[in-house]
Order: sequence, then structure tokens, then C-alpha cells
Amino acid sequence: MNTQEIMDLDKEYVMHTYGRQPIALQKGKGAVVWDVEGKSYIDCVAGIAVNNVGHAHPKVVEAICKQAKNLIHTSNLYYIENQAVLARKLAEVSPHNKAFFCNSGAEANEGAIKLARKYTGKGEIITMKNSFHGRTITTLTATGQVKYQKGFGPMTPGFKYVPYCNVNAVADAITDETAAVLVEPVQGEGGVIVPPEGYLKELKKVCHEKDVLLIFDEVQTGFGRTGQMFASQTFDVTPDITSLAKAIAGGFPMGAVLAGKEVGETFQPGDHAATFGGSPLACAAANASINTIIEENLPEKSRENGAYFKNKLETLKSKHDIIKEVRGVGLMIGVEMNFECGSLVDEMRENGIIANCTAGNVLRFVPPLVISKEQIDTVVSVLDEVLGDH
Ligand SMILES: *Cc1c(COP(=O)(O)O)cnc(C)c1O
Repeated sequence: MNTQEIMDLDKEYVMHTYGRQPIALQKGKGAVVWDVEGKSYIDCVAGIAVNNVGHAHPKVVEAICKQAKNLIHTSNLYYIENQAVLARKLAEVSPHNKAFFCNSGAEANEGAIKLARKYTGKGEIITMKNSFHGRTITTLTATGQVKYQKGFGPMTPGFKYVPYCNVNAVADAITDETAAVLVEPVQGEGGVIVPPEGYLKELKKVCHEKDVLLIFDEVQTGFGRTGQMFASQTFDVTPDITSLAKAIAGGFPMGAVLAGKEVGETFQPGDHAATFGGSPLACAAANASINTIIEENLPEKSRENGAYFKNKLETLKSKHDIIKEVRGVGLMIGVEMNFECGSLVDEMRENGIIANCTAGNVLRFVPPLVISKEQIDTVVSVLDEVLGDH
């Protein structure tokens, strides 16, 4: 099918929940993707911070094919070797040592919230304004942006919102009924907001003093994105619970809740479950993907090439005053414009770069961590060119 035929079919039969770009991608390799018309693009979206190891990575492809030939799914009624091995791997690379597996970011946050409520015996969760935690009713409630919640009430009880990057507001909001504070170490959908030095450390201190759990939503920041395997390591702050998804299995759908031994042992048989969670196939993809991130030093590449990218974008900022701010950490970069950036995304796409606009006026760059300096140079020169016309 050509692009138009696919678009027509979609329009007829798929619920209209997405504001899609008018292309259909057919294949990928590393940080490059091709559409059904054969046009190539440098990918600065990576399936929204998912394809950290790049497209069609041979190790991930091989692991998926090999596992699919044996068993795709068995259910958690039985032991799953790949799942146990993956849990041990996550214990090695994260600050935690117990894992629960599910299928998405929203589900990981749901699990994290249930775990915090069960462990503390309390109901209240504090989250940040401008945050994003998912689209199920409870994670939508946790999401501190009214625009996403409108029309879907009643929301889940027990949530309170405070401004991001304000520790005093959190301290004031904590009561005897507070179970946990849920926070993105870097806000993603909210516009790539990097907290100031010390914020997460102080947040941890306040939570610790008041006996409240700290939950990091690392769904977007995980797996090398911010220059270390996890943002908790980039910012040197250990949370009590971490939720993961997006890049965990190289593009295969998976989520996870991680916690230390004490909190992690709260769940008893029957407390929580997911039919597909931690399936043999998902775990094969995750093991191969995490091994690749380690073997290819992708967190270090993210740090180095992220700094290189940000530097080049700073140079652009000094040239184009329509750029308000360049910010980010590792290969999670936002360029805030002083105008809505939808048209910029179109112009970049027409020139062979796919990027994404979030929070209205922030161009977000979250490419595969395997992107090269040459590819970054191309992205920046295309952006320079299209900005010249504004
Ligand atoms: C994408 C995202 C989610 C939701 O993940 P889904 O897999 O779409 O449910 C939650 N939290 C953060 C920080 C995200 O970036």
C-alpha cells in the first residue's frame, strides 16, 4: 500500500486518537528509518525514547526470532527462565533488587502506586504539575495536566499536585496519610524539563524524614537516555521504587516496577498480576536489549553525543532568536521555541529528519542512542536551514 491508501484505511477503521504525521514507516536500521515510498529519515524520535539500541539491532532481532520459535507466551502460572534472568540483570544495573513485569509505562506506574499503598497502608500520592504518567484512569489522575483529564472523570481519589522543582511545596503537601511522592527525574512530555542541581536529592531527604516513599517514573529516562543506565544514577539519588517501560525491551512492549527487597516483598501471591507480564518473548527482547546497551556503552555514547548535540544547538540559538532555550541531559534534549513548533516538525520531516513537538513549543530530540556525530551534524544543519525561513 502507498501512504495515501494506508491513511485512508486508518481514517475509516482506527479510532482517531492520534494526531499523526502523514508518513508510514516500513523499515529501519540504527538511527535511520524509511517510509513506504522509500524516503529515508534520520530518526530523532526513536518511537518516543523506545528504540535506544537503534532499529533492527541484530542481537535483539535474533533473540526475538529464536524465542518465538520455541515459546511466545506461557502465563505466570509457571516459572519463566528468561524472566528470572532479566530480574537479576535489572538488579545488577539498577539501585533495586526486586522486579514485577507488565506491558507498558502506565501499567508500571499503576503497579508502583499499588505497591506504595500496600507497603505504607496509606492512600495519598503526591505528583507534580506538568507531569506525565500515562493514560489509564489512575495514571491520568497522577498526570498533573488538566488538559489530558478533561472529559474522563471522575478521577481516582487520593492525588495531590505540587509545582515541579519546589521541595518546600512537597514538604507542605505531605500529611499523615501520604504514601508516596511520584516524580519524573526529568519531565519528558511536559517539555524536557531538567530539575536544578540538588532538587532530587532534597526531595529524597524530605521523603525520608517524613517516612514517605519516593517513586521515580523512569519510563522515558531509563536505559541510557540521560547518560547513565538510569536517571537515578545521573542525579545520584536512589528512589524507593522505579517504574520502567519504553526502552526496556528495544521496542517490544514491556514495563517493570522495581523496588528494594523490603518494599518489593510487600506483594503476596494474588496481590498483583498481568497475563502478558514478563512473557518469554518480551524477556528475551529485554535481555538482548539491555545486554546491547551495556556491551556498546550506550549510556556513555548518550552522554558524549548528547553534549555534542546540545552544544551545536546552543550555537544555533545564538544565531536564531526564535529559539528560547536549549536544555536536556544525555540524548534527551528539548529546544524551546517562542512559537508553536508543529510546522517546524513538518519542515524537518520534508527535509529527511523526524523529530517531535511536545508541550506545544518544545522540539524534542530523543534519537536512538546509536546516532552518530555525522547524523547529529545533519540534523542540526537541517534545523538551521528551516529556522532560517522563520
Ligand atoms: C510514555 C510515558 C508513560 C506512559 O507509558 P505508556 O507505555 O504509553 O503507558 C509514563 N510515564 C512517562 C514518564 C512517560 O514518558
